[in-house]
Amino acid sequence: MSECTHDCGSCGENCSERTAPEHEKLHDLSTVKKVIGVVSGKGGVGKSLVTSMLAVTMRRRGFGTAILDADVTGPSIPQGFGIHEKAQGAEDAIFPAVTKTGINIMSLNLLLENETDPVVWRGPVISGVVKQFWTDVIWQDIDYMFVDMPPGTGDVPLTVFQSIPVDGIIIVTSPQDLVSMIVTKAVNMAKLMNIPVLGIVENMSYFECPDCGKRHFIFGESNLERIAKENGIPEIARIPIDPDFSHQVDCGLIELFEGDWLEEMADAVEKA
Ligand code: ADP
Repeated sequence: MSECTHDCGSCGENCSERTAPEHEKLHDLSTVKKVIGVVSGKGGVGKSLVTSMLAVTMRRRGFGTAILDADVTGPSIPQGFGIHEKAQGAEDAIFPAVTKTGINIMSLNLLLENETDPVVWRGPVISGVVKQFWTDVIWQDIDYMFVDMPPGTGDVPLTVFQSIPVDGIIIVTSPQDLVSMIVTKAVNMAKLMNIPVLGIVENMSYFECPDCGKRHFIFGESNLERIAKENGIPEIARIPIDPDFSHQVDCGLIELFEGDWLEEMADAVEKA
């Protein structure tokens, strides 16, 4: 073991003196029962789509559901739900946007004057914004909050994990991306934070021919089961490539998606 620096936040050792990170406090008017972080090794694998679909699934089950869009440099959550208005603020708080079916959302895009403005901030500023989404937003009666994490396993996601009490992590990958290294990195980050990994979702797993129903593994068949087993991850799910999804996201209609690929993942979330 390396020499102890007494800074558990930056040390990976699992020693007996390890302390839990100091999480930021919620606003007095907020209640959030469970927080699930959705992570990926890199951008563009469908993390925001999976976050949105999981939130829609939990909402359909009747739970108070929220999405905290922590992917500050690529905040794409509001688009999928057709939310373009700005968030409203009171003196010491911000109100989340509420989707057609009642999912509460906070995203940097609800605060930017112009949705297409680029966000060119450095890590500490980004982490500060995410902390404020947790502390300054009034999250009322939320059973399940999904946090769309910044991609990767670097400094920014790590700081987010240290400020928000995450109960479980779901890893999103695409088949090209499903080399065990990326999954192992995410698993190690979760271990460092003492947070269980609930499952892996392989997005863009295959394409199902609408005419004959045959499945085509465009990016090759993956070894999802083996990687999950090697890393002790209990639940797996596969989502196909479907042009309907990108259409629904573009038109703000993701609440209308149909398909049961995430039902077992949602069961795992309920048990988290
Ligand atoms: P990330 O959050 O990982 O950067 P997104 O969820 O924003 O990725 O997805 C990137 C793009 O790919 C979006 O336009 C999304 O609609 C599209 N997309 C994601 N998954 C699928 C899928 N399974 N089928 C079709 N389009 C998809």
